[in-house]
Amino acid sequence: MVTIENFNFKGLRAIVRVDFNVPLDKKTFEVTDDTRIRGALPTINKILNDGGSCILMSHLGRPDGVPQEKYSLKHVIPVLSKHLGREVKFADDCVGESARQLASSLKPGEVLLLENVRFYLEEEGKPKLPEGVSDEEKKAAKDEMKKRQKEFTAKLASLADCYVNDAFGTAHRAHASTTLIAAHFPGKSMFGYLIEAELKAMDKVLHSPDHPFTAIMGGAKVSDKIMVIERMLEKVDNLIIGGGMTYTFIKAQGGKIGKSLCEEDKLDVALQILEKAKAKGVKVYLPVDAVNGDAFDANANTSVTKVNETPDGWMGLDIGPETVALFSGVIKNSKTILWNGPMGVFEFEKFARGTSAIAQAIAEATAAGAFSLVGGGDSVAAVNKNKLADKISYVSTGGGAMLEYIEGKELPGIKAIRG
Ligand code: AMP
Repeated sequence: MVTIENFNFKGLRAIVRVDFNVPLDKKTFEVTDDTRIRGALPTINKILNDGGSCILMSHLGRPDGVPQEKYSLKHVIPVLSKHLGREVKFADDCVGESARQLASSLKPGEVLLLENVRFYLEEEGKPKLPEGVSDEEKKAAKDEMKKRQKEFTAKLASLADCYVNDAFGTAHRAHASTTLIAAHFPGKSMFGYLIEAELKAMDKVLHSPDHPFTAIMGGAKVSDKIMVIERMLEKVDNLIIGGGMTYTFIKAQGGKIGKSLCEEDKLDVALQILEKAKAKGVKVYLPVDAVNGDAFDANANTSVTKVNETPDGWMGLDIGPETVALFSGVIKNSKTILWNGPMGVFEFEKFARGTSAIAQAIAEATAAGAFSLVGGGDSVAAVNKNKLADKISYVSTGGGAMLEYIEGKELPGIKAIRG
C-alpha cells in the first residue's frame, strides 16, 4: 500500500477527499468552526510542497442532490485560503465543464476546490423515489442510479492523476468520492495524514492497549451502542456506563426510574450485557446517583437522588456527585481510555456537570501517562467546551465511523485503499 509520506506528488494532480462539512453562520455563511479545515492542512501542504497540485472535494450538509447557496463550499474559501497562504480556485460544479477546465490548467502548487459533491445524488448513489412506487420501479431506479454513479465517479477521477482520502468522518459510507473513486487509481490511492492518525489511534486501543483499559459509554440509547459494548467486553477491564442508557440497565435490575429515558424492549439485552461482563471478568460501573429534572428542559427544577430511586414524575438527566467521584477514580487508575457519548443532557447547563467532570478526569489520566481516545460529536463537543482537546491523546473527527471501526466493521472508504 502506498503511503502519503512516501509518495512523491511532484508534477501530479491529486484529487483529495477532505471533510469540509463545517458549521456555517446561518446569515453570513461564514465558517464558525474551522477545526475540520485545519485537520486537512498537513495533507494538502505535503502535496503542494512536493510540487504537486490539489483538487479538493467534500460534501457540506445534506443538500440531497439539490444545489443550494447555504450548502455551497465556496463559503470555506476565505478560511482555507488564509490557512494555506495562497489563492484557492473554485469550480462551481464538481464534474462539469468548469471543473474540467480549471483542473486541466492547474499548475504545481495550486489548489482547486470543487463545489459540494452532494449537489449530485450520484455521490451517495441513492435515487429519490416518490411515494408508492412498485418494487420493480424501485429496482429499475436503483440500477439506473448505479450506472449514473459510475459515470459520475469516472468524471471526478478524470480530473486527477492520483487519489488521497482524508475524510475519516465519511469513511463508513460507500460513496463515489469516499470509496468508488479509489479503483480508478490502482497503486496511486492512499490515505491522508488525518485518516492515518485516526487508524493509528483506533488500532492502538483495539490491538495493543495498556491495562487497565476502561471504556466509557454514554449517550441516549443502549440500542445504538450494543455492538460497541459487546466488542469492548472482549477488550476492556472496566466498562463505565452513563447517560440516558443508564436507565434501561437500572430498570432491568428492578430500580425505580421515574420518567427517565428507557428502552423497554432492551431490558433483556441490558441484563445479558451485565452477565457477559461478569463471565469475562469485566467490571461494569453504573451510576449510583443522579441529577434529576422535573422536565426535559434547560430550566427544569433539579434534585439529586440515588439512581435507582428516581421520584415519580422526575427523570435522570445527569450523573450525580457520588458517581462523578466513582467514575473519576476508575478513569484516573486507567492506562487506556475510550470515551463515546455524554454522561447527561450536557446541552443544558444544569445537567452538564457530569460530562465535564468525566472529560476532566480523562485529561488528568492522560497527563499521568494514559492513552485516551475520544470520539462522537457530543463527547468531542464536551471536550472542546472544557478546552481540553490538547489534553486528550486523540480526539476523533468521526463519531459514526469510529464506532463502526471499533465494532469491527469494515469501513468501505478504508477497504477501498487498504484492500
Ligand atoms: P448519542 O447520540 O447516543 O451519543 O446521544 C447523545 C444524546 O444523549 C445527547 O443529545 C444527550 O442530551 C442525550 N442524553 C444523555 N444523557 C441523557 C439522559 N439521562 N436522558 C436523556 N437524554 C440523555
